[in-house]
Amino acid sequence: MDKIDFTGRVAIVTGAGGGLGRLHALALAARGAKVVVNDLGGSVDGSGGSASAAQKVVDEIRAAGGQALANGASVTDWDAVQAMVQQAMDAWGRVDIVVNNAGILRDKSFAKMELADFRLVLDVHLMGAVHLTKAVWPHMVAAKYGRILMTTSSTGLYGNFGQSNYGAAKMALVGLMQTLSIEGAKHDIRVNCLAPTAATRMTEGLLPPEVLDALRPEAVVPAMLVAVSEQAPSRMIFAAGAGTYEAAHVTLTRGVHLGVTPDTPERLLAALPRMADRSGETVPQSGAEQGSNEVRQALAARR
Ligand code: NAD
Repeated sequence: MDKIDFTGRVAIVTGAGGGLGRLHALALAARGAKVVVNDLGGSVDGSGGSASAAQKVVDEIRAAGGQALANGASVTDWDAVQAMVQQAMDAWGRVDIVVNNAGILRDKSFAKMELADFRLVLDVHLMGAVHLTKAVWPHMVAAKYGRILMTTSSTGLYGNFGQSNYGAAKMALVGLMQTLSIEGAKHDIRVNCLAPTAATRMTEGLLPPEVLDALRPEAVVPAMLVAVSEQAPSRMIFAAGAGTYEAAHVTLTRGVHLGVTPDTPERLLAALPRMADRSGETVPQSGAEQGSNEVRQALAARR
């Protein structure tokens, strides 16, 4: 079996003062990575803050013989995120791995949700990941090596009542990953997503106690380690919880070619079951593949 080893690698994990991020940071350090432990130390809705959250995890890593630095930046602060990357470059001269994990919840039904809560959740999850990824990108391009993980969610992939803001932000990260994995390929920058299910303070009120028992956060960490390893795939959406590991895909059905006539809307309505039929569906490797599927069928219909 191929060993997963991070000796000599430098990682930045956001939101690593508690929950999954803390376990990610500890696991990377235990396998040899030098880790910047970032956390603003706020509550689950993003309010408040304390520098001690990140420092405590750094102390744990050091006590176990590893190397780590604490950083208290909010991922929403572009200047502070750039300074964090500089902190890693000054200390260790490289950044090989980024785990975009920081996140908050502001749950409410869409009818009751304030736009401010929608914007804040997008800002932390989406722009937080954009900031750090943008700040490390030139270093990874120069090094011709990079491993970036976006933390998405089953809510983004499949929806969940009361989480329109969170779901939109989490699916946006899948879109970001799809394009960055294409742009990063020639520099050996591999980008993946992780949709975890774990009992943390974030899920306390959402799941019944016996389910929470099964969902030890430690059971998510192996998927993270594979997704940022030297041997990592790219463009994979890992799903992980309770020791089960799955891949989610954005698929395309074969579809139906109907052409464009005045009654196409009615014919499409009648053809919806055939259009949505999943037999023979594919996972396009770029956006252009959707277009080529469409054009191929149009040309075939002309013959
Ligand atoms: P958590 O609340 O324990 O951890 C989130 C961490 O992010 C906290 O330590 C918090 O202080 C930090 N944080 C929040 N805003 C920040 C900011 N602006 N800058 C820096 N740090 C910030 O929750 P968790 O369950 O460990 O969640 C980790 C990630 O996994 C999140 O992105 C979450 O959306 C995602 N996720 C979790 C689950 C789950 O079942 N727990 C499911 C799907 C997705």
